[in-house]
Amino acid sequence: MIQPKSSVKILKPYTNAKCNHLDTRTNSRIMKLDANESTISPSPRVMAALAEALRDVPLNWYPDVTSKKLTEALSLYTGLAKDCILTFNGSDHALENICRAYIENGLEVIVDMPTYDHFRLYAESSDAKIISVFGQNPYETKTKELIEAINDKTKIIYLVNPNNPTGVLYEEKEIRLLLNAAPHSLIIVDEAYFEFSGLSMAHLVKEYSNLIVTRSFSKAFGLAGLRCGYILSHPANLETINKVRVGKNINTMAQIAACAALEDLEYTEHYVAEVTVARKWLSEKLARKGIFVCPSAGNFILIKVADPHAVISHLEKNQIFIRDRSQFYQLGGTLRISIGHQLLMERFWKVFDTLPLDILRVQDNLEGLQS
Ligand code: PMP
Repeated sequence: MIQPKSSVKILKPYTNAKCNHLDTRTNSRIMKLDANESTISPSPRVMAALAEALRDVPLNWYPDVTSKKLTEALSLYTGLAKDCILTFNGSDHALENICRAYIENGLEVIVDMPTYDHFRLYAESSDAKIISVFGQNPYETKTKELIEAINDKTKIIYLVNPNNPTGVLYEEKEIRLLLNAAPHSLIIVDEAYFEFSGLSMAHLVKEYSNLIVTRSFSKAFGLAGLRCGYILSHPANLETINKVRVGKNINTMAQIAACAALEDLEYTEHYVAEVTVARKWLSEKLARKGIFVCPSAGNFILIKVADPHAVISHLEKNQIFIRDRSQFYQLGGTLRISIGHQLLMERFWKVFDTLPLDILRVQDNLEGLQS
């Protein structure tokens, strides 16, 4: 066999969510709560724009490689100038292109752990050395530890805000400390879930040329299947990243859908408000059962149970899919549940509430960290 480059040879692949969403078309009982997608369809305006586009838009042409309309709409949405915005085929595509543009052998990338694993994959396959920073407590921010890990080989610091899978949220003053401590490194703040936390670092782009904010249309806007994301950063960084970016990858339908979603912010705001209520409702029910729930600022919660595999298997027998995070260092026993609209979470609870207590309750969960 032809051998791949050595960083790919030893690369540990990303593990995708298990549930095949296409099965939900023939089995409406399936509850897909394993990938933090929106649990409702996109805004009716998005659906109408897509239907119209199927009739009128010539799909034989390549998409607009500059995403002109979408960039204009994003400028209004983010309050930043158009030259501070660059669109991608999902925020994963953005992370991949940042790595391609900035990383080479011998450079280090600091990752705030435990976290979303895709960035690690792009950085490692670009030959970076990953410096994983774990704190004493995975349910707290780690500004001090991250700053201590910085050295003159540090090219990128990556953190997710709010973090996936813990839901932990860094405040602006902590991000400022990091930005000031690493003027020669890029700080990526992955804001895939920022609509649910209501807290963004986007405005800091005007102040710090070492900040890159990545965002997604896959979560609050419900466009995961169409793939669209963007970066907010200093124009000079975007010029660099644009050199390796393939503009054609942001397909025509995704651009049209994302523009239409931004024209109907009320729909998204309504959904976000519903998820926030459902998150609190479910967290309280779980805590009352004696289950540890990490307070989350995202559209998901992380819980700790006595026997995660038994819980998963019970739920799957009932067509409910959540994500096992128990194999992550520091997250033994944990499971991540995506939060969707209230009715769905009530259906989820009806099944969850019947699980035997001995697979749910961890004795030492009962002290301290419950929400
Ligand atoms: N960042 C984080 C933190 C995520 O959790 C995800 C999706 N699970 C992504 C990025 C990828 O988002 P997208 O669909 O925009 O590629």
